[in-house]
Amino acid sequence: MLKDKLLSLVVPVYFEQECIEQFIYETTKVLKEHAINYEIIFVDDGSKDNTVELIKTQALNNTNLKLVEFSYNHGKQAALTAGITYAKGDYLLMMDPDLQDPPIEIPNFIRKIEEGYDLVFGVRKEKKDNIINVIFSKLFWWILEHFTGLNLPRGLAVMRIFNRRFTNQFLKYNESSRFIEGMFMHVGMKQTTITIEQRERFAGVSKFNFSRKLNLAFDAILDFSDLPLKNIIRIGSYMVVLGFFAAFFIVIAKLLLIDFQMGWASIMVSMLIGFGVQLIMVGIVGVYVGKIYKQVKQRPLYSVKTVTNLEEK
Ligand code: UDP
Ligand code: MG
Repeated sequence: MLKDKLLSLVVPVYFEQECIEQFIYETTKVLKEHAINYEIIFVDDGSKDNTVELIKTQALNNTNLKLVEFSYNHGKQAALTAGITYAKGDYLLMMDPDLQDPPIEIPNFIRKIEEGYDLVFGVRKEKKDNIINVIFSKLFWWILEHFTGLNLPRGLAVMRIFNRRFTNQFLKYNESSRFIEGMFMHVGMKQTTITIEQRERFAGVSKFNFSRKLNLAFDAILDFSDLPLKNIIRIGSYMVVLGFFAAFFIVIAKLLLIDFQMGWASIMVSMLIGFGVQLIMVGIVGVYVGKIYKQVKQRPLYSVKTVTNLEEK
């Protein structure tokens, strides 16, 4: 399999000391069994446990294992981008080290992309996760599709493979805020999915708690849609129309000599709600402005401390 081609695994790691050895063991076993030329690019996103040492120890005996170390935590999206930048392969395969997506699927991904696709997404049969997470992720994808029109495959796993042509196109994107799945859809090209069997996280805990996930969800929506801005205009217009109706009926009532004494309570309530709505709207505009500010500064996405078995860039 893959006689004259190189496969690059791109693996972001962050506090993964419980998983990393098992991950290396399982992946290299599959890769060797199928005689695949490979490199594994680990990108350490600023772990403070033994993750880096464990990878370095293994990398001493196997130069196909490569490591990029960030100087501090930049987030998974940046780590993935770094991995994709350093990878030399004809095919790039994204994986998490927690073994939720099993390495035995690697040959299936290669088989599928060799049929002539540019990108093959793994999708899971069912999500091995607690009920809250499942509900949240369903809601997230629904809102995302509704707001952005991005038609992402349902039940997206992390594992996915793409070719050099796709990679080169992806590397042209220099946005500072990166919702990788959305960017992949924007790159487009010939895409398909394969279904994979997911497992529980091998060990350790998820790094994405609820509020981090919520932040990612907001970013995804704001990066790929200006619908919130348009909705501000819509809501504002409704309120103005409502105001005119109210004015009209109050004048009629006065002419009919109906005298209603509006108490301060009703005025307070409408003022509070009105001001609240305005603040929210200014906030939404502010978030977009913040994103522009970040983009305009053109800061590098990440800062690399050192690399192992790789050339400095
Ligand atoms: N990760 C990262 N930087 C972070 C948080 C997470 O590189 O700031 C990596 C982490 O090591 C893991 C992957 O992102 O490989 C997915 O994280 P996790 O498995 O904790 O999330 P879940 O699968 O529960 O969504
Ligand atoms: Mg995981």
